[in-house]
Amino acid sequence: MEKIKDLIRNIPDFPKEGILFRDITTLLKDSDGFKKVIDILAERYKDKKIDYILGAESRGFIFGAPLAYAIGAGFIPVRKPGKLPYNIVQAFYELEYGTDSLEMHTDAIEKGKKVLIIDDLLATGGTAKAIIELVEKLEGDIEEIAFIIELEGLNGRKKLKDYDIYSMIKY
Ligand code: IMP
Repeated sequence: MEKIKDLIRNIPDFPKEGILFRDITTLLKDSDGFKKVIDILAERYKDKKIDYILGAESRGFIFGAPLAYAIGAGFIPVRKPGKLPYNIVQAFYELEYGTDSLEMHTDAIEKGKKVLIIDDLLATGGTAKAIIELVEKLEGDIEEIAFIIELEGLNGRKKLKDYDIYSMIKY
């Protein structure tokens, strides 16, 4: 795990002053590091009978798609506004810096299907909360919410206290 942590680059004052941005591009370009991350997640979820992996645009796609492939689940993209072509459900959220909304197709999840939500990083938990709202609108069953990185000081876990949370690297 320390090796994975070493591959994450820290950028001070991005995207604005006072924010220490955890940059995963340096992890992604390392073939062993990227593979290790997916292997750890696949080992954790392979026997959980998960129907769908939900990845949030855009960094959730990067981890969600290979994980879905590895464990034999389907992949559902949760997208930024205006990108999806069919009927959508929508949820609003606040970011560490700004506000936005996320959308998913109304027929993405059938009632009672088991889903795993994945994103690169848990900060305040606002993004994950919005994704939970989308899943619950469609009556999906949330197995767990997985993050590569958790910023513990921002208390995102508290906002998601009704759900099982997994994070690989903690700061
Ligand atoms: P939250 O909604 O406050 O939990 O913020 C999490 C979202 O913001 C995730 O989708 C991340 O991709 C993004 N994010 C926030 N801080 C960082 C960071 O330091 N590095 C990379 N992404 C970040």
